Amino acid sequence: MAERVVLGGALLCSADSTLQWDTGVWIKDGLIAGIDSNGLLCSDHPHAELVDARDLLLMPGLINTHMHSYGLLSHGMPAHGVQREFFELLDDFWWPYVEDKLDGPMIEAAMALACYHMIRGGITSFCDVLEAPNAPEGILESEANVVRAAGLRAVLMTEASERIDRARGERLLAENASFIRDHQNDEFISGMLCTHTSFSCSESFIELAGQTMQDLECDLHLHLSESAYEPKACLERYGERPVMWYDRLGLWSNSVLVSQAVAVDSDEIDILYERGVRVSHQPISNCEVGGGFAPVPAMIKRGIRPGLGTDGYVNSAFEVMRAAHLIQKAALQDLQVMPTRDVFSMATTWGAQALARPDIGEIKQGHWADLIGITMVTDTPLNSHNAVEQIAIYRDVEHVKLTMVGGNVLMKNGKVLSLDVKKVRQDANQQALRLWESG
Ligand SMILES: [Zn+2]
Repeated sequence: MAERVVLGGALLCSADSTLQWDTGVWIKDGLIAGIDSNGLLCSDHPHAELVDARDLLLMPGLINTHMHSYGLLSHGMPAHGVQREFFELLDDFWWPYVEDKLDGPMIEAAMALACYHMIRGGITSFCDVLEAPNAPEGILESEANVVRAAGLRAVLMTEASERIDRARGERLLAENASFIRDHQNDEFISGMLCTHTSFSCSESFIELAGQTMQDLECDLHLHLSESAYEPKACLERYGERPVMWYDRLGLWSNSVLVSQAVAVDSDEIDILYERGVRVSHQPISNCEVGGGFAPVPAMIKRGIRPGLGTDGYVNSAFEVMRAAHLIQKAALQDLQVMPTRDVFSMATTWGAQALARPDIGEIKQGHWADLIGITMVTDTPLNSHNAVEQIAIYRDVEHVKLTMVGGNVLMKNGKVLSLDVKKVRQDANQQALRLWESG
């Protein structure tokens, strides 16, 4: 790739760094090769292609550590019956009327829309969990083609459980395994094994997944205690809480990423921390499903560094940062919890840790040039002391004007270049209607 120089109005490399005025980056082969003043960048690299973002604050691209792109098709979907709690929501509505009905065209249209939302909103990397047991074989590769065309960085997987039967679970596990093998050296799109919960997977199925994880030396993702339902069911069935159940089965290690972790107690947090388990936090969707408040401040205090996820619900990292910041203050009646610096880190450096990608999440020499530019036109002064707060709490999707992944410009002047938004919306509307009318 040609060399690029991005001139910035200001540069914020991470939550812990100082705002640098009139500073930009030099990009070579998709990586950040240097950080310097705009003047020096221009004189040192006269032949590099210039991206003039001197009206923008440059910062690391946001990282969405857990989402379901297919979930976008359910936005506005007519209700089926009345669900009062989490398991009813899954069993009476989400499984039969959404997950089980998804086919290839629906999944691809939803992925394209999700990619549009993310590029528009400054998300440069994401982890997507497809939950579609009846989708055709090879669906992950179809998703990968959509993501590749959009230009984003992604970890893709299809969820394997025994909800339908053991054979289906094993087929989906094997599909993840082959996707992981095929993308081992792919810096943009990779895979992860994926199981569901302690109430939809048996002990022997989790052991099989754990063995596969060891054989492939890969990562595994699962949903953990999204509401009080899972610990209650696990206690009734096995006499132990889910974190202890997985621990007895030998699954936990730093190769495992859990999402949700809402109904976990302090002993469970200790085990998650001690085993190095990575965590993704979804503050908004936890509200949507009546799940409760994840004990994120206690996790952070213990040493866990969670990432943030949109869960395919409200697909804006800015909304999720605000929610992560605010919800805990209300829940714990404590103004000191969830400082903006932590929230900003969750969406950037900690998000990179959650995805086990030490080469993204921060603007740093040698890291991938995944960066975004945010307008510096603010209603109150922007300075070194308040930059993190101005971004994490007071900015929104429309303030993002530039999105770059691996040095490629995916959005410029607020216009997404890699996708035809009109067609993406048309397809999503069409496929959503097919889904809604299929029940
Ligand atoms: Zn989820």
